[in-house]
Amino acid sequence: MKLNLKNLTNKNKFQRTHLIRDVSSKLLGECLIVYGWIERIIKLKKLTLAVICDNTGTLQIILNNEIINSAGITKNSVMKIEGILQKSKSHEFDFELNVKSFSMISKATSHSPLDSRSNISHLDTRLNSRALDMRNQKTVAIFKIRHNVLLSIRKFLIEQKFIEITTPKIIGNATEGGANLFTMNYFNNNAYLAQSPQLYKEQMMLGLDRVFEIATFYRAEKSHTLKHLNEFTSVDIEGAFIDYSDVMNLIEAAIKKIYDYIINNCKSEIDIVNPKLQNLQHTNFKRFTYSQILEKLQNNDIKIEFGNDLLDSHLKLIGNMHKEFYFITDWPLSLKPFYIQEQYDCSELSQSFDLQYSDIEISSGGTRLYDSQKLKNRMISQNIDPTDFVNHLNVFDWGMPPHAGCGMGLDRLMMVLIDTNNIREAVLYPRDPNRLHP
Ligand code: ATP
Ligand code: MN
Repeated sequence: MKLNLKNLTNKNKFQRTHLIRDVSSKLLGECLIVYGWIERIIKLKKLTLAVICDNTGTLQIILNNEIINSAGITKNSVMKIEGILQKSKSHEFDFELNVKSFSMISKATSHSPLDSRSNISHLDTRLNSRALDMRNQKTVAIFKIRHNVLLSIRKFLIEQKFIEITTPKIIGNATEGGANLFTMNYFNNNAYLAQSPQLYKEQMMLGLDRVFEIATFYRAEKSHTLKHLNEFTSVDIEGAFIDYSDVMNLIEAAIKKIYDYIINNCKSEIDIVNPKLQNLQHTNFKRFTYSQILEKLQNNDIKIEFGNDLLDSHLKLIGNMHKEFYFITDWPLSLKPFYIQEQYDCSELSQSFDLQYSDIEISSGGTRLYDSQKLKNRMISQNIDPTDFVNHLNVFDWGMPPHAGCGMGLDRLMMVLIDTNNIREAVLYPRDPNRLHP
């Protein structure tokens, strides 16, 4: 039997004639059917004034007490409202619906913990009732921007001939070795939640040439910071016959494209969330080597021995000088994971980069080792047991091309785009050591 979609929609008894956003002077005098939540309700002598909202806007409605009994209507209940559109005398609204019929579709029975649309700022309260927080215009704007960021990065990578893959999130071995794995029971064996798609995306270089994955990954770090979550979304990229400078060019182009896309497609959302984006002028991302960063720190009387990692306090200082995107390249090899290639002319340095925005790390990437023996030796030098990675190392004996790539934290990039210092603002239901519910 052929499905007739037209007939199906006609059967929908909750069909609305208009979204509130579409109400305009062209409709004056017409009968509209809208559905919405009751936002406030004020009973006067002969009339009841109420404001309803749907997810596109708010509208005033007027009920004649003699015709319509509004008793029992609670705030936040979902109502069906049929009425004639007329000019309004209130200064808040240009129009109002003079209600002809009014029925309860879904009654809100408990007092809501958030006053919808009231821009309540306490983040924990909002996260505890995240569903209701979705009626806060600013929150909606954040997640519309996030949606458009995802859309534009996919578009860009696909145009650059990358294909989207999905790698396992339940894995049998630690990806990068290590302590920060969530362990789970897998039919009486130990399994782990993936920290990154690193090994799988490298394996794909045997046939797919250019791949990307956008997915959540897991790190069992008990960190209580504003930029770490235990579940985060990563944009991972890997390409054959390219090196780390190609990857830097690519990620820089991707970020510029994302900015252009959301500036053009999310105007009203940006107005609410981060208006200064509208006037943004792109400049090329600066590139500093790790050694140049050490010099900058030295000029500020901070002495760091070559080979030591940059601490948060150091990045704060550098970040204060550069409130923009910039790369830190050519890190000491010892600070980078086992799969990173050394510099051809200096084996202490690696072909690697971190992309920073001010003091926030947005992405890490590099040229990868593609020789299985070198990879094995590097594992041993980092106290990782190669026998745990037999499957992975085998792949490198089947003709692995040179390759490079990076992982970018989507939630971190969102922090920059929406101008927040707390990653939780950009994630629907953030997971941190104190937050497993809702
Ligand atoms: P950091 O030093 O900030 O803890 P990292 O160097 O351990 O990050 P990578 O393994 O390089 O992280 O991961 C690639 C990217 O993924 C990071 O640059 C960051 O944007 C993002 N990322 C990593 N861990 C987290 C996390 N716990 N929460 C949110 N984003 C993360
Ligand atoms: Mn990193």
